[in-house]
Amino acid sequence: MTELLARPPDGVVTLRWLGQGGFLFRSPGDVTWAVDPYLTNYSSGPSRVERLNPPPVAPAELAVDAVLGSHCHSDHLDPETLAAVAAHTSAEFYTAAEGARMLGELGVEARRVHTVAVGDELTLGDPARSDVRVAVVFAEHTGDAVGFVFTVGRGGRTIRIYVTGDTLFNERLFSPATQDVDVLCVCINGRGGNMTYEEAVELTRRLAPRVVIPMHFAVMPHNTIDPQLFVDAAHAAGLATETRVLGVGEATQVPG
Ligand SMILES: [Zn+2]
Repeated sequence: MTELLARPPDGVVTLRWLGQGGFLFRSPGDVTWAVDPYLTNYSSGPSRVERLNPPPVAPAELAVDAVLGSHCHSDHLDPETLAAVAAHTSAEFYTAAEGARMLGELGVEARRVHTVAVGDELTLGDPARSDVRVAVVFAEHTGDAVGFVFTVGRGGRTIRIYVTGDTLFNERLFSPATQDVDVLCVCINGRGGNMTYEEAVELTRRLAPRVVIPMHFAVMPHNTIDPQLFVDAAHAAGLATETRVLGVGEATQVPG
């Protein structure tokens, strides 16, 4: 994991965009986790349409403490990625019922598969030492799709990161769990059950994070968008939030 992402100092989280809705994170307490890692060409289907960007990490290298899946579509919970991660690492898996069922069908041991639902609160990694807590939050997409809010760090130096997963714009995205987030990772592609970039700007305006990272583009040729549209709309709206567009595989640290 060290080579995939540097361990951050207190008060900071390092993250790496994996493309599409996928992120890799590392906490000051050295908990590592991935959300929606899509690291193969599986979703291209029989035509095997090439990805716009190659997977930045090989699935077998994803030696994280936890993998979280927002919903059971293959560009988020990819059977090929998940089977490789399960076989080559000791990661634990957290997802809603439909995804958990698929992990079982892939042969992932039941003790490593944790079924989650909106309202759940989790701790990632070794509970005795972990500095990463998770709130499972609402998403409007597939039947049991969810989003995640991570609270990272201890004492007064916590960072809160909201990863929307795939979702339409919905008033239920605004909840006590999604208030006071420092970082928002938001889908912007405006199709296939996801909010438009204008709606993503509105979500950003109302949540007022310090940093927003747009996602869900640059991987699938038939389902991408120019992130500059989001950046320009955020600028036109006069948002105080920093918009930070990452390249596929690019690492950064948040909030600063
Ligand atoms: Zn998606």
